[in-house]
Amino acid sequence: MADFSRPPGTMDVLPEKSGVWQWVEAKAREVFDLYHYREMRTPIFEHTEIFERGVGDTTDIVQKEMYTFTDRGGRSLTLRPEGTAGVVRAFVEGKLYGGTLPGKYYYLGPMFRYEKKQAGRYRQFNQYGIEVIGSDDPRADAEVIELADHFLKELGIRHYRLELNSVGCPTCRSDHKKLLLEHLTPIKNELCTDCQSRFEKNPLRILDCKIDGHHPQVLTAPKITDHLCEDCSTHFDAVKGHLNALGVAYVITPTMVRGLDYYTRTAFEFIGTELGAQSTIIGGGRYNGLISMLGGPDLPGVGFAGGLERLLLTVDEAREQELAADRLDAFVIAMGDAAMDFSVKVLQLLRKNGIRADMDYAGRAFKAQLKLADRYHAKVALIIGDDEVEKQSVTLRDTTSKEQQLVSIEELITALQK
Ligand code: ATP
Ligand code: MG
Repeated sequence: MADFSRPPGTMDVLPEKSGVWQWVEAKAREVFDLYHYREMRTPIFEHTEIFERGVGDTTDIVQKEMYTFTDRGGRSLTLRPEGTAGVVRAFVEGKLYGGTLPGKYYYLGPMFRYEKKQAGRYRQFNQYGIEVIGSDDPRADAEVIELADHFLKELGIRHYRLELNSVGCPTCRSDHKKLLLEHLTPIKNELCTDCQSRFEKNPLRILDCKIDGHHPQVLTAPKITDHLCEDCSTHFDAVKGHLNALGVAYVITPTMVRGLDYYTRTAFEFIGTELGAQSTIIGGGRYNGLISMLGGPDLPGVGFAGGLERLLLTVDEAREQELAADRLDAFVIAMGDAAMDFSVKVLQLLRKNGIRADMDYAGRAFKAQLKLADRYHAKVALIIGDDEVEKQSVTLRDTTSKEQQLVSIEELITALQK
């Protein structure tokens, strides 16, 4: 039998919900612009290698979540599972490294991951994110984090905490990795299959595994923050110092390791404290190895990505209702054919003057049309019958005071603007 339902893990945003979506997206653009980030629009699909290299082949994303397909030209393409790899690819391909650095970019749009069905997890979901490419300055890390904090506050979201860590660089990680493997080898067989397979390649990830993260031996594992090299340690101290100066509260969380392979130094997550299992609203960090890995010069980068769906779960209900309301400035109520024809021209006049207006196209009776004006919260109803057509006028009815007056078509806009 034909299946006419939407695919699992996708959603429809119906009109009563699209208001809040538009509001959040507009806020994101407004805040990004305020901090001087400019939009980057990249394709929804890329060559598969971009993500294999750019996200990393030990990650969940590359190992089991990508929507990969062969196109008619025999190319392997993948629907983007995240935004950073594409932005960096475009940065390199557009030779933006030849311009003013650091480059500050943002993106907004759908991402695709073949995930297990869970609350707060979709297979097509929307992310907003920013990237600063070409600066190693800890002030840039602090700006990125403070921007995220500012954005959440602008949306009226209060119940969250910021977890902060440094995952060091390849130098500090190789020392730490030896200690970590020594510490974890005795329990290797007790770990989940994912952790067993990442054991040699990316043991740091075991620390924040949702299954093994609570194992007593994992909890007492050597902390990366105790093994940072001098440069990474100085950088981390500076980031903390700037956040203190900016009044952004954080909790140091040495077990927090972001999912992507390319992170270096700063890693952070904003966690919604009133959300259930899928509680990370924004995740980000520094990725100093990524640009050169994708064929660009050896430039550092820092950024974050957040999920729009999870953000929407935390938006205040009253605000959501307000944004869902369908409000018209004017509703035209017409009686009879001639009046309806005249209404068509009245509507054009209203809309040309920026007045949000509509009329009934379903042949409703007068009373039912009045009810419609109420349903759309119209500030005024413009009543048109044969009499009004003859006088080239409308009866303007204030829906609150119920006062009515006859206004000629020439004076209508001035009368409405009052
Ligand atoms: P998790 O550990 O929850 O799988 P992740 O490390 O895969 O998270 P990122 O790749 O860092 O997440 O994505 C950044 C943000 O995008 C997440 O914090 C979350 O808000 C959102 N996000 C990620 N995957 C999904 C999804 N499948 N559905 C909805 N939102 C998602
Ligand atoms: Mg994930």
